[in-house]
Amino acid sequence: MLNDTYKHRGLRKKLVDTISRKGIKDEAVLQAINNIPRHLFLDSSFLEFAYQDQAFPIGSGQTISQPYTVAFQTELLEVKQGDTILEVGTGSGYQACVFGEMGAKVFSVERQKKLFDKTKKFLSQFNYRIKLFYGDGYKGLPSYGPFDKIIVTAAAPFVPEELLKQLKIGGRLVIPVDIAKNLQEMACIQRISENDYEKRLHGQFRFVPMLGNKAND
Ligand code: SAH
Repeated sequence: MLNDTYKHRGLRKKLVDTISRKGIKDEAVLQAINNIPRHLFLDSSFLEFAYQDQAFPIGSGQTISQPYTVAFQTELLEVKQGDTILEVGTGSGYQACVFGEMGAKVFSVERQKKLFDKTKKFLSQFNYRIKLFYGDGYKGLPSYGPFDKIIVTAAAPFVPEELLKQLKIGGRLVIPVDIAKNLQEMACIQRISENDYEKRLHGQFRFVPMLGNKAND
């Protein structure tokens, strides 16, 4: 059950201030973070951790991304109401809910069965337009695309061709791509026409690695 108190809301407001001070300007992104009870997405409800601007373990060796990183990727995507968005790496489902809160329709893929099952059950209590899939994000979801926006929330060794193909013309892909061991550069790739893409780089981040075919189910 959704247990969101006055105290939680106060802490969330502070978190939004922090993220905004760090440079996030998109009001819809800040509003979404303000509205979503992040403490419910963590295994145990450690209040202090839920509303600090930090990544946090969510089981199966995975993490819920740092709120600033969630906001940064979301801002780069320029999410509009009604967008269809493909997410690679459902994890806790928090990022998917941020998109949902912004009025987007979300298709999210998770490679780990245990996490997929847990998050599917958890997200059923929200009324967002989010559809979850158990599968390999490298392949995207060809039968549901093309998408307005695509986000990858794990470190990618390269930009998967399949994801580029599933972007609408004018659409954007935001993906952290390896530039060294344990270090990624945030790329935002816009599809300009059938065969042309424009890529911009937006600084360094650290994500858990994207899993290949030998996932640890
Ligand atoms: N967006 C998440 C954070 C994700 S952490 C959130 O808001 O909580 C990265 C996630 O990507 C992990 O859950 C991991 O299991 C998943 N993942 C890793 N490789 C993947 C792949 N090839 N396809 C789909 N998901 C993958």
